Amino acid sequence: MSKHPNTDLLSLEPEGLVRALESHFRQRDQPVYRIGQVRRWLYEGLSASIDEMTDLPLSERDALKHFFTLTQLEKARVEVSQDGTVKHLWRLSDGEFVESVLIPTKKRLTLCISSQAGCAMGCTFCATGWGGFQRQLTAGEIVSQYAASRRWAEKHLGDTISNIVYMGMGEPLSNRKAVHHSLSILNQGYGVGARRITVSTVGVVPGILELAERPEQFRLALSLHAPISDLRLRLIPLEKRHPLPEVLSALKRFNESGGKRITFEYTMIRGVNDASELIAPLADLALSVGAYVNLIPFNPIPYQNWESSEHHRIKDFAKNLQRRGVPAAIRETRGQDIDAACGQLRAHTLVQLEGSREREH
Ligand code: SAH
Ligand code: SF4
Repeated sequence: MSKHPNTDLLSLEPEGLVRALESHFRQRDQPVYRIGQVRRWLYEGLSASIDEMTDLPLSERDALKHFFTLTQLEKARVEVSQDGTVKHLWRLSDGEFVESVLIPTKKRLTLCISSQAGCAMGCTFCATGWGGFQRQLTAGEIVSQYAASRRWAEKHLGDTISNIVYMGMGEPLSNRKAVHHSLSILNQGYGVGARRITVSTVGVVPGILELAERPEQFRLALSLHAPISDLRLRLIPLEKRHPLPEVLSALKRFNESGGKRITFEYTMIRGVNDASELIAPLADLALSVGAYVNLIPFNPIPYQNWESSEHHRIKDFAKNLQRRGVPAAIRETRGQDIDAACGQLRAHTLVQLEGSREREH
């Protein structure tokens, strides 16, 4: 008879973890403090294996291994950019790959994590989108990117991670159950403040509404890229299903749910979405939901011949938005020499592993 698949301790929300361990240790006549021991190994010790839990008797480690697992991320590659950006390529247990990126700045160490292997959204400017969708990540696979990256950062950079952004591969709000669990685990388990965690979405309305209902003040980034529907449709196929006005009313709900911050991500593509006439509608949208605007130079990708807007044009956009009362900043591109920039994740690996595969659009 085949054994029931073991529960992954790292995929359980902290409350669920305590419940599962309570019942496990009760059945084994073990003291309650065993729960705290395991919890500490996971969330403070950043453990990647039950064998590391050395203050548990060997027999208890064996029993835990019999009923539970811990997500294993195998480090397939680490690349360090000249500017200090660090990209990890992780191999998942079934051979899929995902990436996460550590981005050090003066005051912060931000980790960019993936929520899916690939992405089904097919945005025309994004390398992950061109690679197609492989599968959802489990909550354990999402939070393990944090635990493993933090272990790496503490060892090699002598620093810990201060902020997390769901801006790696995948559309987090298309993997809602695992992403919600991962948010609880990062916040209540590992203790990362909700305001230091940003979920980035291309506009999955039901997901935005669900996030608005959560009591924690997780931040939301909307990948806007165009302030009018016609143009947005050229860049983001989801615009057809969830057009801008619908996204906007979801953002209003999010905004009204109290103390939550919204950012617009606007990737600037030369001759595509950088016309001066777009500044006024962009400003209106931002003001209507109190959003902060991040202007991002487009990172060229292998499948498109688009280029970034020129720097003076991006500066002009930023200045004009500010003049209209919209807080705006230019996000510098990081880690370009190792393809760690937004929209480039996995592109390189796919091209290397499979040859540059043209996708029909
Ligand atoms: N799916 C989510 C999160 C992952 S994408 C989303 O779309 O929001 C993370 C960010 O990278 C998004 O803002 C996305 O629009 C941006 N991005 C994708 N491709 C890019 C490229 N080639 N150049 C610059 N930014 C890009
Ligand atoms: Fe997916 Fe985001 Fe890329 Fe669009 S921009 S294809 S939603 S990862």
